[in-house]
Amino acid sequence: MTTLVVFVEHSGGNARRGSLEALGAAHAAGCDCIAVLAGADAAQAAQTLGGSGATKAVVLTGPAEHSADAVASAIAEVVGAQGADGFLAASTHHGQDLAARVAAHLDSVLFSDCTGLTSEGDSLSVQRSWLAGKAIAQLTSTAPAFCCTTRLNVFEVCEGEGSVEVSEHAISAEPKTRVVSIEAKGDSKLDVKEAPVVVSGGRGMKEAEHFSLIEDLAAAFGNAAVGASRAVVDTGWRPHSEQVGQTGKVVAPQLYVAVGISGAIQHLAGMRTSGTIVAINKDAEAPIFKVADYGIVGDALEIVPALAEAVRAVKAEG
Ligand code: FAD
Repeated sequence: MTTLVVFVEHSGGNARRGSLEALGAAHAAGCDCIAVLAGADAAQAAQTLGGSGATKAVVLTGPAEHSADAVASAIAEVVGAQGADGFLAASTHHGQDLAARVAAHLDSVLFSDCTGLTSEGDSLSVQRSWLAGKAIAQLTSTAPAFCCTTRLNVFEVCEGEGSVEVSEHAISAEPKTRVVSIEAKGDSKLDVKEAPVVVSGGRGMKEAEHFSLIEDLAAAFGNAAVGASRAVVDTGWRPHSEQVGQTGKVVAPQLYVAVGISGAIQHLAGMRTSGTIVAINKDAEAPIFKVADYGIVGDALEIVPALAEAVRAVKAEG
């Protein structure tokens, strides 16, 4: 059986959903999973991993737990010590940063932002979106170790039961970075990459103030993040952190609502693998309707408030 070391990010003593999805991906592919965790509360988070697909968890200890270079070096040691075949992380900023470094330590290649993971015998292969999402490539590695990151909101989380055997591994590498301070972000807004629902607005919203309607619809869902097209980011209506697309973030939420967005190829590259796509546009010929599962033709300024009200009514019914 193929064994993968899976990096588990956590917050408040609980594993983050993207990491649970990465564990779920490896488990569903028939791999044996060893979770590796670093940072404050890592030991507590490791104890919560029973039933997640991991059979063991290794907690990295030492003062260099915030240094990506030292943590990556320690993870590569864990891969070797556990006799694992490779490394997997969720495709978050942190996961991508670590995975590239671990791949270098293991003299491997890195398949990033994968949407599929399968094993055949001892060989693992991945699926990745190519050509701005117009094609899906199936890739396998001839390198001695296998490394990949998994796109968020694509893989199922394991909902099993069980326990994990937890051990520790000391970070021995001298860190090349020193963390001066860490400050919590002032807001607790969901990131477009992680939210299960994304409500994105485009130039069809007409002006920055009208994005309060998009925010209100996102609030009605309760678990939604606000996204934006590049056109509105470039005009300064929304921050770049919300931009979806080729030069923004690639998202794959369960539900993507595109409001007043034409559906340019560069925007589609960032959202076309979403579970269900709903488009609201006054132009029935807008290209976004070609990738949409549901389309509403009309004025977004009228439809979005009505939709928010309808979502609230459904939620109130339970
Ligand atoms: P528009 O194309 O202007 O579309 C506005 C839409 O709103 C239209 O379809 C219109 O019918 C509709 N509309 C107007 N009024 C209403 C109304 N009242 N109600 C409902 N609908 C209405 N774009 C990205 O989004 N992300 C990227 O990462 C990105 N990267 C790029 C990289 C490169 C190298 C290049 C060249 C371009 C990139 N772009 C990107 C830009 C992209 O080509 C488009 O210009 C952009 O996506 C258009 O944004 P939009 O759909 O909001 O605006």
